[in-house]
Amino acid sequence: MTNEGFKETMTFRECVDRMVDRAIIASGFDPGTGKIIQACNVVSQIKFPVKIGNKIEIFTGWWAQHSSHRLPVKGGLRFAPIVNQDEIEALATLMSYKCALADIPFGGAKGGLCINPANYSKNELRQITHAFATELARKEYLSPSLSVLAPDLGTSSREMVWIADAYKNMFPENLNQSACVTGKPLTHGGIAGRTEATGKGVQYALRQFFHHPDAVEAAGLSDGLEGQRVIVQGLGNVGYHTAKFLSEEEDVKVIAVIERGGAIVNPDGINIHNLRQHFANSDGLKGFEGGDYIENGSSVLEMECDILIPAAIESQIHANNAMAINTKLIVEAANGPTTYEADEILRERGVTILPDLYVNAGGVTVSYFEWTRNLSHMRFGRMQRRYDELRGITYLHVLEELTGKTASDKLRNEIVRGASELDLVRSGLDDTMQMAFTDMRDIIKRNEKINDFRTAAYAIAVAKIAHSYYEQGLAEPVQDI
Ligand code: GLU
Repeated sequence: MTNEGFKETMTFRECVDRMVDRAIIASGFDPGTGKIIQACNVVSQIKFPVKIGNKIEIFTGWWAQHSSHRLPVKGGLRFAPIVNQDEIEALATLMSYKCALADIPFGGAKGGLCINPANYSKNELRQITHAFATELARKEYLSPSLSVLAPDLGTSSREMVWIADAYKNMFPENLNQSACVTGKPLTHGGIAGRTEATGKGVQYALRQFFHHPDAVEAAGLSDGLEGQRVIVQGLGNVGYHTAKFLSEEEDVKVIAVIERGGAIVNPDGINIHNLRQHFANSDGLKGFEGGDYIENGSSVLEMECDILIPAAIESQIHANNAMAINTKLIVEAANGPTTYEADEILRERGVTILPDLYVNAGGVTVSYFEWTRNLSHMRFGRMQRRYDELRGITYLHVLEELTGKTASDKLRNEIVRGASELDLVRSGLDDTMQMAFTDMRDIIKRNEKINDFRTAAYAIAVAKIAHSYYEQGLAEPVQDI
C-alpha cells in the first residue's frame, strides 16, 4: 500500500484545509472564523533516547493539538515509519471535525512516533512506548482531563496498557489515571466493543445510507445493502472488522481485499475470517486459497465494484488514479484516504463519497464511552441491568395473565434480558451514527449550495466549533446553514 511514483501537489494537511475552505464558502461562514478554526493550536516534536541492547537510539515523535474548544483533546497514537509532522497535524485536525460532527465533547489531537514496530521486540517496544508516554505526560500531552490518547495505525490495546502504566507511575494519586488513554483491554479499564468499534461504525454508516432510498438512487446503486459488491483496502483492525461485519451480518459480497504486497479477489465473496487467519499466520495475502492472488494491489483499487472502502492509510485515492476508480460509492473508513484533488475529480464524475469524519467516527465515539466509564469507575448497566430484568419478568407475567397465553422461550428471553454493557455501547454508537447522518442529510436537503456528504459534514463540524468559540467570545456569531 504505497504511493510510489505518485506526487500530489498538496500535503495531507493542505488537503484537509482545502476541504474545510470549500465548506466555509458553501455555508457562507465568516472567513475570519474559518481561519481561527483551521489553525492547529500546538504542535510539538519530541526526541527521546531509549537504550536498545547496548546502544542508545534516539526516537522522534510528534504530538499535535488542533483545537481545545473542548477538553480533553482526543486522538489516536500512530506508530509507523512514515509518520511526519504534516500528517499528525492533519490527523489532529480531522479529529476535531470528527468529534464535532459526532457530538463528542472533545477537541482534536494526534500523536505519532516514527518507528517500524516490526524492527523491535515486544520488550523493546514496551520500553519505547513507556519513554514516549513519559515525555508526553511531562508536557501534559497525556492526561485524563487534558489530552487522551487511543490506538491508531501500529498501536493497539497493548500499547494503551503500557501508556496507562507509565502515567500511573508518574501520577499514582490521580483517581482517574486510567482515563488518560482509551482502547484499553477489558481487564485494564477498557469497555466492551471498543476494539471493533470503528468497523461497527462503518457498518452502521452504511446501514444509514441504505435506509435512504433517494441517496441510494442518486449514487446509482440498487436498493438494499445485501448483495452489494464491495472492495476493502486494508485488513488491519478497521478493514478487518468492517469486512467481517458487512459479509457476516449484512450479506454483502466482499469481492476483493487489498493489503501491502497484493490483493485477493473472488467475485463470489471472500471468507474474511479465513483470510485474516491466513494473513496473521503468513504475514501476507499470498497463498490464500479462497481467492485469486494479484500482486499489483493498486490495480485492484480500480476494479469495478458497487462500494469501495479504503480502510488503510491516507492519500490512497489521488489525482493519478481518481479517473480510474470504478465504483459508485466510496466509504472512507480510513482517515484522509482521498486527496483534495481526487475528491474534486470524483465529485465531477458523480461518485458518491461518505467522508472519513463521519464513517470512522465509531472509534472515538466508543472511546468517549470508555472515558466516561473510567471517570464513573463503573461498568455501564451495572446498576440497572438486574432491575430491568425484573421489570421484564413482571411485564411478561402481566401479559400472560391478561391473555391467558404463554410466551415462547425466544420472546421470553428477549423481554426479560437486561442490557449488557456491549448492548448499551452498540446502541449509543448506532444512535451517534444515525444522528450524524440525519444532520448531513438535512443540510443537503436544506442548503442548495451543499450537495455532497463531505461538504455537509465539514459545514456542520465548523458551525459547531465556531459556535463554541463564539460562546467564549473568540469568534463572530455563526449563521444557520
Ligand atoms: N484512532 C482513531 C481515529 O482516528 C480513534 C481515536 C480515539 O478513539 O480517540 O479516529
